[in-house]
Amino acid sequence: MTDPLTPAQRRRAMQAVRGKNTTPEMRLRRALDARGLRFRLHRRDLPGSPDLVLARFGAAIFVHGCFWHRHPGCRYATTPATRTEYWAPKFAGNVARDRAAIDALRARGWRVGVVWECALRARAAPATAAALDDWLRGAAATLEMPQP
Ligand SMILES: [Zn+2]
Repeated sequence: MTDPLTPAQRRRAMQAVRGKNTTPEMRLRRALDARGLRFRLHRRDLPGSPDLVLARFGAAIFVHGCFWHRHPGCRYATTPATRTEYWAPKFAGNVARDRAAIDALRARGWRVGVVWECALRARAAPATAAALDDWLRGAAATLEMPQP
């Protein structure tokens, strides 16, 4: 059967489902690239398949959408007013999975960075990449952007 979507439409649809290769993530990848940082993508052999892994720095990074992953206190983490019976367990599941992945990575000795989507809006992205770069070269085990 032929795909009714163009390849570009298909790619966008798949990205929306999997939450990978999203615009914020691509923006971070380009900014880190520009800083000469090398990373691997979506390593499935690691808990939670981190979006970026910088083995040289022992660091795993997640780029989290503020809505789906419930960025605390963020204005983009809105809660739909209808069908709460549908959304509530979905949100709770995402948050629990994120927590478990971070804990498992930490237990294996990985440093873990969480970059929220709102820190990767066009104007904020360069500063976020710079802060991430500093963190990678430092000693702190965890980083959250924006800082809580
Ligand atoms: Zn946010």
